[in-house]
Amino acid sequence: MQAGMMNMPLIVSSILRHAETVYGKSEIVSRLPEGGIWRYTYAEAASRARRLANALIRLGVRHQARVGTLAWNTHRHYELYYAVSGSGAIVHTVNPRLFPEQIAYIVNHAEDKVLFFDITFLPLVEKIRLELTTVKHFVAMVSREHMPQSTLPLLCYEDLIAAESDSFDWPLLHEGLAAALCYTSGTTGNPKGVLYGHRSTVLHAYASMSTDALGVSNRGAVLSVVPMFHVNAWGIPYSATMAGAKLVLPAGALDGASVYELLTEEKVSLTLGVPTVWLGLLHYCEKENLRLDHLERAVIGGSAAPEAMIRQFQEKHGVFVLHAWGMTEMSPLGTVNSMDAHMAGLPIEERYKLQAKQGRPVYGVELKIAGPDGKELAHDGKAFGRLLVRGPWIASGYYKDEDRSAWVDGWFDTGDVATIDETGTMAIVDRSKDVIKSGGEWISSVELENIAVAHPSVAECAVIGVPHPKWDERPILLVVTKEGKEATREELLAFLEGKVAKWWLPDEVLFVKTLPHTATGKLLKRQLRDDYHDVLMRQASVA
Ligand code: ADP
Repeated sequence: MQAGMMNMPLIVSSILRHAETVYGKSEIVSRLPEGGIWRYTYAEAASRARRLANALIRLGVRHQARVGTLAWNTHRHYELYYAVSGSGAIVHTVNPRLFPEQIAYIVNHAEDKVLFFDITFLPLVEKIRLELTTVKHFVAMVSREHMPQSTLPLLCYEDLIAAESDSFDWPLLHEGLAAALCYTSGTTGNPKGVLYGHRSTVLHAYASMSTDALGVSNRGAVLSVVPMFHVNAWGIPYSATMAGAKLVLPAGALDGASVYELLTEEKVSLTLGVPTVWLGLLHYCEKENLRLDHLERAVIGGSAAPEAMIRQFQEKHGVFVLHAWGMTEMSPLGTVNSMDAHMAGLPIEERYKLQAKQGRPVYGVELKIAGPDGKELAHDGKAFGRLLVRGPWIASGYYKDEDRSAWVDGWFDTGDVATIDETGTMAIVDRSKDVIKSGGEWISSVELENIAVAHPSVAECAVIGVPHPKWDERPILLVVTKEGKEATREELLAFLEGKVAKWWLPDEVLFVKTLPHTATGKLLKRQLRDDYHDVLMRQASVA
C-alpha cells in the first residue's frame, strides 16, 4: 500500500527557505578577501541568493549546467551554494590549492560555463585562461571599487546582484538531481568528480546536525575553517542553515592568530577543521598565553586527530574534540566520536584513548571491514581490513568516469584500513597505500605518528615505509622539531619504546625542515616515499 504522505522533494533551496522564515534574524559573519568583515542575516542572504539566481539565468546558466567557483569561505560563496543549486544548476567548487594544470583539467572536465572567483585567485585564472575551453563568463567576487585590473573580460559580482530583482521562485526540482560537484584531490591519476544530489545533501545535513553527530544548533555559533572548496566544508553551509546557527566564515585567513580572533570575537562554540589548522591555533595560543574561552567543541577530521592534540584542547582550553572521519565520496561524513553515555562515564585517560578513534557511524552510513579475500571480518576491535561503506550520501560512481573498481556488491571501498569494535566504534589503522608491510605483517604509520607527535620537541612528523633488503619494507620516522627545540634519534626511539610492539619501532629517524602536504592539508606520503626510498637500502649496502 502506498503511504498517505505528501511527496515533498528534499531540495537544497528548502534549507535556505526554512532559515529565512524561521531564523531570519540569525547572523552570517564573513571575513572578506578584500579586507574587513561582512555581517548580515539569513533573511538578507536569502534575498541576495535570489538576486544571484536571476543573474545566473541572465548569464545563460541552464538547468544542470555547471558553475565553477574558486573561492574561500565567504558570504558570497555561501550565496552561490544556494543560488546555483537552488535554481537547478550545479555548483562546482574547485580547490584552488591544486596545481594550475589540474584546475584547468577539472574545469574543462566539468564543462563549467561560468567561473566565479575571489580576487586572490585572479593570477591563477589569468594563467590558465587560454586552456579553459567551456567558460563563457568570468566573475570577480567583489564590489565595483575593488575590481582588479585584468586582461580578462571580468564581470563584477556585486554589479550582477544589484541589477536583479530579489523575487525568484525556487523551482520544485526533482530531489534526485545533482546539486554540487567536487573533485577528489587525485593523489594518483586525474582527479575524479563526485556529484552530490539534492536529496543526499539534505539527508546529510539532517544527520550531521544532530546532537550526537556534529551537534549544530541554533544556540551556537559555528566557524567552518574547513574550506567550502573541499567537500562542501563538511556540509556546514547546509547544516548550519538548517539549524539557523550563527555561521562564521574565515575567508583565507587560516593562521593561528586570525582563527583565534574570529573564535573569540564571534563567540564561536563549535568549529571544524583539519589537524594542521589546529596545530597552528594551539601553537599560537601557547605562545601568546591565550585561552579559547567560548569554544565548546572542535571537530577534527581529514587526518587522524592525535591524542596529544585532543588532550591539549581539553586540558588547556576545556574544549571537547569531536573526532570525525569521512571523505569526498561520502559527502563527507561517515563516523563521529561524540560524547555518548559510555564515553561520559570513562576516566579521563581512557576517554582520550577512545577519542583518538574515529567513532561510530552516523545514522544513514553502514560500515564493514573485509580481509584480503573479501570476507567480512569480526567487529572485535582487533581484526583489521579494508573499510567498506554504503548509504544514501555515498557516491555510486564518479562523474563522467567508467571506473567502478572501488565498488563491490553495492559497497564502496574507502581505501582505508580499519578496525571496528563491539560498540560499532571504528578506528582507522592507515590508508591502505600507506600501511607499512614489514615481513608480511602490517605496521600502522598513523599510530606511530600519533605517538611521536606527543614528544615535547616534535612539531610534526611522518612515518613512511621504505624498501628494506630483508623485511620488504620498514618504517622510518621524519620529524620537524618545534622552533627552538631539539631532539635526537635515540631520544625519539626511546619515547616510542614500550608504546608499540618492538618490531614496529622505526629503523631510522630523520630530522627535516618541513613536510610536504596535499592540497587538502594531508601529508604527501607518496612524495616522501619517492624522496627517501633508498635510505635503508643505502645503509644496508654500506654495512
Ligand atoms: P582526498 O581528496 O585526499 O581523498 P578526502 O578528504 O576525501 O580527500 O580524504 C579522505 C581520507 O582522509 C579518508 O579516506 C581517510 O584516509 C582520511 N581521513 C579522513 N578523516 C580522517 C580521520 N579522522 N582519521 C584518519 N584519517 C582520516
